[in-house]
Amino acid sequence: MSSQHHKVLILGSGAAGLTAAIYTARAGLEPTLIHGMQPGGQMTITTDVENYPGFPEVIQGPWLMEQMQAQAEGVGTTMISDMIVEADLQTRPFKLTGDSGDVYTCDALVVCTGAQAKWLGMESEQKYQGFGVSACATCDGFFYRGKEVAVVGGGNTAVEEAIYLTNHATKVKMIHRRDELRAEKLLQQRLLSNPKIEMLWDSTLEEVLGKQDGPMPEVTGMKVRNVKTDEVTEHDLEGVFIAIGHKPNTDLFTDQLEMDEEGYLITQPDSTATKIPGVFAAGDVQDNKFRQAVTAAGTGCMAALEAEKYLAEMEATEQAAAE
Ligand code: NDP
Repeated sequence: MSSQHHKVLILGSGAAGLTAAIYTARAGLEPTLIHGMQPGGQMTITTDVENYPGFPEVIQGPWLMEQMQAQAEGVGTTMISDMIVEADLQTRPFKLTGDSGDVYTCDALVVCTGAQAKWLGMESEQKYQGFGVSACATCDGFFYRGKEVAVVGGGNTAVEEAIYLTNHATKVKMIHRRDELRAEKLLQQRLLSNPKIEMLWDSTLEEVLGKQDGPMPEVTGMKVRNVKTDEVTEHDLEGVFIAIGHKPNTDLFTDQLEMDEEGYLITQPDSTATKIPGVFAAGDVQDNKFRQAVTAAGTGCMAALEAEKYLAEMEATEQAAAE
């Protein structure tokens, strides 16, 4: 157990956190970045990235994050692996406690804790989670080579995951609660022209079916309800992927930072500043609209520049008081 003080602490190592680290390091602020269980953030569970500017060829999400991390370390960021379990932003310096027992204090904090996949909340979904029910096609798709699977959702993530799964599975049933997808048109065209995809429109997942003969449970099928006719149909398959959006990782800051009704941190207009001076938020944790790696990197840069300005002003005030 130790206690260490830092001028700038960055929480989270996705595109936002690493960009904030690169900028604060280059400003000579010697930042420390603390990452939890998923270093690199959500980009590490994607495969092909075709829309990050600067790379005309398809690149891989995990590779891009490795490059960003190498760049952040190269310019002087200290990386620490610890799960922060407690944050006290009411006192100064701000105080964070890791599950290692270590205590980290800082003058400026940049929160880049990102977001994570949402679940439907059904009992059968939970029962088979990790045994045929997944929220990450790119992580688990490989296990469904030659098998049938389903994807729930109608946004970009669901469509990308369904298309990706056709590389492995023999058939992908896409369950969407409406008769129109939310995903962008280009992706929709790719999806709907893929012969391995079968659309189950106006439908919801009613139950994941499975069995347990050996040591592990396994998925054997699903029940799907048509919301217009109320008809329930049973389908045989071996994997169900849930892709219905994300939840921001903000539990740590309940009652301390302002959040919207979905839990996203609220920042001031055209700024990453939260209502607590010295605490900034960047990336998916404060963005429920764009949620792109490039926008996360953009707000990470903004947070770094704002933290730098905040610290310079703090130092000037302290100097004036001392004189
Ligand atoms: P979205 O919020 O865009 O979509 C969620 C989907 O899940 C919607 O179709 C929604 O249905 C459905 N849904 C939500 N809750 C339920 C529920 N309880 N039961 C059934 N269906 C449900 O999330 P995504 O993760 O797809 O995307 C998040 C953001 O990331 C978006 O801004 C997206 O554009 C972006 N993104 C961009 C990518 C890219 O540019 N390559 C790739 C992936 C994501 P309904 O439509 O009826 O609301």
